[in-house]
Amino acid sequence: MSTKEFIIEMGKVPHVAGYESALAHLAAGWFGKLASAQTDSLGNMIARKQGAKNAPRVMVCAHMDEIGLMATEICDNGFVKFARIGGIDKRNILATEVTIHGRKPVYGIIGIKPPHLTSADEMKASIEIKDMAIDTGYPKEKLEKLVRPGDIITFNREVTELKNGRLTGRALDDTAGLAAMYHALELLKDFKHNADLYFVGSAQEEVGARGAKTAAYGIKPDIAIIIDVGFANTPGLADHETIKMGDGAAIAVGAAVNRKVFDDLKKIAKQNNTKHQIEVLPGRSGTDADEIQIAAGGVLTGVLSIPLKYMHSTVEVVDLADVKNCGKLVADYIMSLQDWEGDECY
Ligand code: ZN
Repeated sequence: MSTKEFIIEMGKVPHVAGYESALAHLAAGWFGKLASAQTDSLGNMIARKQGAKNAPRVMVCAHMDEIGLMATEICDNGFVKFARIGGIDKRNILATEVTIHGRKPVYGIIGIKPPHLTSADEMKASIEIKDMAIDTGYPKEKLEKLVRPGDIITFNREVTELKNGRLTGRALDDTAGLAAMYHALELLKDFKHNADLYFVGSAQEEVGARGAKTAAYGIKPDIAIIIDVGFANTPGLADHETIKMGDGAAIAVGAAVNRKVFDDLKKIAKQNNTKHQIEVLPGRSGTDADEIQIAAGGVLTGVLSIPLKYMHSTVEVVDLADVKNCGKLVADYIMSLQDWEGDECY
């Protein structure tokens, strides 16, 4: 399966934080062709590719969950009220199409007042989530048979192609990371690697890196490479707070990253002529690395960010070449650990 197909197919499955099981099973089927894959009680997908006996354990991690909404109330007028799951900008969900995953999928739209009836003051302010509602067309009595508070809601947008090898759609954060991880596994397919490998599709990253935490405690890796997305430069954003689309994965440096893992990733990328860039993350990384690094007795972490535009919207954009370069860097790094015994002082 190509990287593009992998991302497009993953985008068809709803996988809001805490409700990733459909995607976890889909991922387990694909990763399971190349490694021994299973899901765990928190909803993580873990695929193990065995290395040498007593070899150091290396965990590669990309999160499976996406941001979304949750139904909170079915109102007397038949509208459905909702809350956010994960960091969603309330300004970009008005006038969008959604699916409520109730007893059966229910199509709806988030309505908006006509501009003709909106006052000048209202025009200036952004509308609060509590003042929005989903219109399905159903009356309350019918809707109550299909939808209950707690049902998840996803935005109706699949992944499509832009020009020049770019994809756009919902939840590329972090299906692009999962695709890079899968590409790495494909590249390693025929190699005899020393390290014992664990490829983790983590659950609940968007609500506090919860799946990565339990996975890291279970695996107790010596090294973990976390693949997530980073802010690609777009008009209105400063160079110092962004990375460049098309320049390869960004190797992060900062407190959430082990300095030697950072140096080694950079060295391996240079040696193999793999396009890459550097991203400065001085404090928390805002990724699964923040929990994995401090799991069990502590883990040597590295973070790779795939450049992504319009983060946490339904029109996120990634460049397929960046995704593949990221996967290649992970595979090359793993193969560089052939003589590493896990006891080296980092
Ligand atoms: Zn992410």
